[in-house]
Amino acid sequence: MTKNYGPEYIRAIAPYQAGKPIAEVAREFGLNEANIIKLASNENPFGVPESAKQAMAAAVAELGRYPDANGFDLKGALSKRYDVPADWITLGNGSNDILEIAAHALVERGQSIVYSQYSFAIYALATQGVGAQHIVAPAKAYGHDLPAMLAAIRDDTRLVFIANPNNPTGTFIPAAEIDAFLAKVPSHVVVVLDEAYNEFLAQQDQFESAEWVKKYPNLLVSRTFSKAYGLAGLRVGFAIAQPALTDLLNRVRQPFNVNSLAQAAAIAALNDKDFLQKGAENNTAGYQQYVAAFDKLGLEYVPSYGNFVLVKVGDDAGAGTRVNLSLLKQGVIVRPVGGYGLPEWLRVSIGLPEENEAFIEALTVALAE
Ligand SMILES: *Cc1c(COP(=O)(O)O)cnc(C)c1O
Repeated sequence: MTKNYGPEYIRAIAPYQAGKPIAEVAREFGLNEANIIKLASNENPFGVPESAKQAMAAAVAELGRYPDANGFDLKGALSKRYDVPADWITLGNGSNDILEIAAHALVERGQSIVYSQYSFAIYALATQGVGAQHIVAPAKAYGHDLPAMLAAIRDDTRLVFIANPNNPTGTFIPAAEIDAFLAKVPSHVVVVLDEAYNEFLAQQDQFESAEWVKKYPNLLVSRTFSKAYGLAGLRVGFAIAQPALTDLLNRVRQPFNVNSLAQAAAIAALNDKDFLQKGAENNTAGYQQYVAAFDKLGLEYVPSYGNFVLVKVGDDAGAGTRVNLSLLKQGVIVRPVGGYGLPEWLRVSIGLPEENEAFIEALTVALAE
């Protein structure tokens, strides 16, 4: 007889489906790794910034020691960049870690967490991981419906997750709407504003969310070095929140959750304006490349503010899986989103121009099959 270990709410977790690694696709489909193109995890197509590589090389000598548990230098750099005191910052092993820490620090089993339909998969996992109740507000045009989310908040709600821009749909909520939402959220509810793709926003859409943190004691802004900064494999992200909230997060956080190489690389990347600029320009051009191709192929897509696009590849519930398989056989890895309740769609990251072109060609072939 098999024993049921652990609490029921842990056994009920549906594991996160990550983008397939290149080596795995090469093995499965008998392909040469060098010919495989991965556009599945919204990674930076330019890879690790040179500045970060140099900082890591210099930091290797100190790896015999534990990392700085308080991340003094990185917090200092972030404090300067965002104009908030260093004790308003929590470092995370990726911003995923921040989302999990927030749930652990703020929500008791049986209380509720609000997030949107079609929003980031980790919100459901973090909710389930603490045995909280899921309140999933219906999406509007594939994005967050903030009035619906506000209405969904209950007395037992402790946390609201918002992704802006959202993954996997790429939708964006303008600053004024978020501000209006924050002004109405009850004070017993903490809002986690997950801005993993903030750096890809056009100038006119940018706003300083750190300024809202000064106004709203129940706001936590989450950012990452995984996307625009090209450090996904290192795992480093951070939260900005007022000290009362930050102090709680730090009680739950593992003391050495961000390693020394990651801390050194993040400081270098944060100050590497050229790298960010190059990435933003490539992203704008790549987005145009995709949208032109989708229009030509007659495919519906959700206008995206991130470094990826959600595109509808068929009308039946098998379409995403079918087209994805054809793409894999052609050596192109994208992201099926059936798990998000979007089985007719695929999410594709914006890569280098030649990678985007290879995807478009493979997609054209797949659709003709
Ligand atoms: C990629 C992503 C993250 C961050 O991932 P980390 O690598 O853990 O920092 C967070 N939120 C959203 C919406 C994302 O798409």
